[in-house]
Amino acid sequence: MLPVIALVGRPNVGKSTLFNRLSKTRNALVAEHAGLTRDRQYAEAKWQGRRYILIDTGGISGEEVGIDAKMAEQSWLAIDEADLVLLLLDSRDGLTAADQMLADGLRKRGKRCLLVANKIDSVNPDIARAEFSALSLGEVLPISAAHGRGIAALLEIALAGFAAEPEIAVEAVEEAGEGKPLLPGPSAKDGIKIAIIGRPNVGKSTLVNRMLGEERVIVFDQAGTTRDSIYIPFERGEEKYKLIDTAGVRRRGKIFEAVEKFSVVKTLQAIEEANVVIFVMDAHEGVVQHDLNLLGFVLESGRALVIALNKWDGMAADERERVKSELQRRLLFVDFAEIHFVSALHGSGVGLLYRSVQDAFRCAVTRFKASQLTRILEDAVAVHQPPLVNGRRIKLRYAHQGGANPPLILIHGNQVEAVPRSYSRYLENTYRRELKITGTPIRIEYKGGE
Ligand code: GDP
Ligand code: GDP
Repeated sequence: MLPVIALVGRPNVGKSTLFNRLSKTRNALVAEHAGLTRDRQYAEAKWQGRRYILIDTGGISGEEVGIDAKMAEQSWLAIDEADLVLLLLDSRDGLTAADQMLADGLRKRGKRCLLVANKIDSVNPDIARAEFSALSLGEVLPISAAHGRGIAALLEIALAGFAAEPEIAVEAVEEAGEGKPLLPGPSAKDGIKIAIIGRPNVGKSTLVNRMLGEERVIVFDQAGTTRDSIYIPFERGEEKYKLIDTAGVRRRGKIFEAVEKFSVVKTLQAIEEANVVIFVMDAHEGVVQHDLNLLGFVLESGRALVIALNKWDGMAADERERVKSELQRRLLFVDFAEIHFVSALHGSGVGLLYRSVQDAFRCAVTRFKASQLTRILEDAVAVHQPPLVNGRRIKLRYAHQGGANPPLILIHGNQVEAVPRSYSRYLENTYRRELKITGTPIRIEYKGGE
């Protein structure tokens, strides 16, 4: 599971600045809380091949009343989900009463903490260290979020406790060569891992019930509180699946109940764990911004994707047409995904989801021969040459597969750093068409120097 790191601190200490620096805000997700002015932000960040979920909890000072108290409560909920808290402090202000209250709150919760003394560009780091160590809540790490100082040391210590992700062993694949076994990958024998995700109230729990209620659920561990009992294995005919639980599903007879509410962190972790994501939307609401944000995360993760447009029951014909054309327009960026129109409540269309899940999974994990990938590359280049760079043509020589789920195609050649995005997209489309890949993104990476 991806580790979760929360940035905590009173307003103006530099949380957003640090958040932006660590995440590069490529894909920040803002949690919606009605009536709350300051939003929480989530992002997936990466440092030296290690990925983690970063949360900017919004400013809290421990003294809030009224609407601010509500906001603070939300921030504490985010903090409860974190594996590690970075308590940000402002070195220019020194230690304040609000910092003390936050530190007390964190200590009470027994959270693993690092004290991060920000803005040391204008203060002597030793003075900041001495001042903040009075909080006795762990090591004090001086940084400047704005100028990028001390960030590497901070991340080194912050991520030290978490296991590194296995990187794709590109070299190993190259050595294995054609016809030899490639990397061990997910297989349908173990059960396809499905994550059902979407905004609150789109019908995820109803869909989970529908899917689990009709199939054979293998006994699963309901202990719940441990972070690894998250799979609910079930069988449908001969096929095996594992549903990744994002809401603490409990069984009561035939009914499955979600015991927790929507959690962005659990959603992001489930996407990461899954082979295939079933993304649920509410047909009555159409595509809203938050759907697009979440879908952006799915795309970024490279997971295979099936879209379920739920609550299709009771919709008038003209409304259905309107929704369909809206989908076509706004979901172009995930046009590889099958869209299903379902009613989780009545069950219509739900069975058909499995076909697309199977197809997407198969495409996501298929191994393609280097000779086939190279032939497709040669044909594509013959039809449409890569552009000239400084008077020299980009040369793309051969291709092979570097990983699966999502399929990663490694292309070797010269001046590859100059390949334009549009050309990569052309190659991706060509591979998709020739290899008949649906339901999963395709990654293309280049290796130069030959
Ligand atoms: P937040 O309210 O905790 O999210 O704080 P912001 O990230 O919005 O930063 C508050 C102010 O502090 C802004 O004016 C930032 O430009 C400034 N700031 C943030 N980091 C640094 C830093 O490392 N050095 C200095 N000098 N200013 C900083
Ligand atoms: P979740 O928050 O995404 O898990 O959503 P729920 O499964 O709790 O559903 C939210 C509400 O939508 C509930 O009142 C459901 O009864 C209703 N709902 C779910 N699926 C459907 C559907 O297919 N059709 C209709 N009309 N309502 C549905």
